[in-house]
Amino acid sequence: MTPRDLPAVPKLLAHPALADHMPRDAVTHAAREVLAAWRDRLLSGSAAESPALDALAHEVAAKLVAESRPILRRVVNATGIVLHTNLGRAPLAESAAAAAHAAALGYLNLELDLVTGKRSSRQNPIRASVCHVTGAEAATVVNNCAAATILVLRTLAAGREVIISRGQLVEIGGGFRIPDILAVSGATLREVGTTNITRIADYAAAVTPATALLMRVHASNFRIRGFTKCASLAELVALGKAHDIPVIDDVGSGMALDLAPFGLPGEPSIREGLAAGADLVLFSGDKLLGGPQCGIVAGRRDLVERLERDPLMRAFRCDKMTLAALEATLRLYRDPADAMRKLPVLRMLTTPLGELRTRAERLRTALQGVNAEVTLRDETAYVGGGSLPDIALPTVVVALKPHAVSEGELAATLRHSEPAVLARVQAGEVLLDLRAVFERDTGDLVKALRAALL
Ligand SMILES: *Cc1c(COP(=O)(O)O)cnc(C)c1O
Repeated sequence: MTPRDLPAVPKLLAHPALADHMPRDAVTHAAREVLAAWRDRLLSGSAAESPALDALAHEVAAKLVAESRPILRRVVNATGIVLHTNLGRAPLAESAAAAAHAAALGYLNLELDLVTGKRSSRQNPIRASVCHVTGAEAATVVNNCAAATILVLRTLAAGREVIISRGQLVEIGGGFRIPDILAVSGATLREVGTTNITRIADYAAAVTPATALLMRVHASNFRIRGFTKCASLAELVALGKAHDIPVIDDVGSGMALDLAPFGLPGEPSIREGLAAGADLVLFSGDKLLGGPQCGIVAGRRDLVERLERDPLMRAFRCDKMTLAALEATLRLYRDPADAMRKLPVLRMLTTPLGELRTRAERLRTALQGVNAEVTLRDETAYVGGGSLPDIALPTVVVALKPHAVSEGELAATLRHSEPAVLARVQAGEVLLDLRAVFERDTGDLVKALRAALL
């Protein structure tokens, strides 16, 4: 067999399986690509003979269907990781999503004071609510916490020194490395202490007239255990006050409520940072806060005003959908009980174990008769996925040991279903954790699982 046995493009296009596909240019393009791929396979010897016309036509049709689907698609998150950066981090509350939707579809008073009819700042609606939630005297919002960090360092420390503990020179993921962020900001990093021990005396010894800031960075996605010590924020604040140097606290995940009663201890809260006297606290909008992607700076008014005058502020400003969603998210925090109920991130992180077990049992029942061994098991889940420290929460998983395919093949089939399903793959099994699966998605999840395990 040779490539000459492949049909000509017009003959393939005339096949009934392709008759209804539009636009015709796209059909022609797909047909050419499919034929070219087969030509290569025949020439290289990786295929021995050319497929039948029917098979080729159906391959082109399948390609067209695949190409017609959007690349960004809904995913059912059965990994148990609530804040999964690869899956878009925090799902929004209904009211926040509705606000973003309305902002997207129409016009809004983004930079207009409706009382005076004059121009206003797009930061206005956010300032009041951030201050209300955090207790700060001023606040401003940019595209993410990385942008907030660059803005703060550039505005307040360019050409000067920033003192940071060696134990806090972290990489958060996605290329956010503290030393690199300092470098692009034009500030000089002054490392003090060692990886495991940094005392306040180390900071004090490094203070010179060139010192612009003392900075604390929360080690968001790892922990140093054992013989370790780091100067407290209160000690840093006292040192800063003595030398008139502002203290910056990059808390990262931005916890606005105390989640310790729910088994989530150790996360620094925004309020605590400010109460301890940090001049500025920096945090993400789409981590524990449960809102849209953005970075919030809260703290001293004079410093926030300097940030807002920096030309970078224009490059880092948030869009209308983000600001609308953020305002609605922050509004929920006026009633903490409301926030716990309505913010998916907080609801998922605090779901009681008994409820997870009941849901897992229901899923197992719904999977009766599938071609796999289905068991229920207690597990420990790392729910932060690189956004929170390695907080381990007890959880319940439905473990699938497929009979006919490997665990990797099953996981791949699930990723290709509609909606896509993402699960954990572990030692011969596919694990489903329902913590981050919305109730409204369980029907789709069961359908995808049953189809993948025929
Ligand atoms: C996540 C994190 C960042 C980066 O935040 P983004 O909003 O993802 O840019 C910065 N600092 C800390 C401590 C973090 O945890």
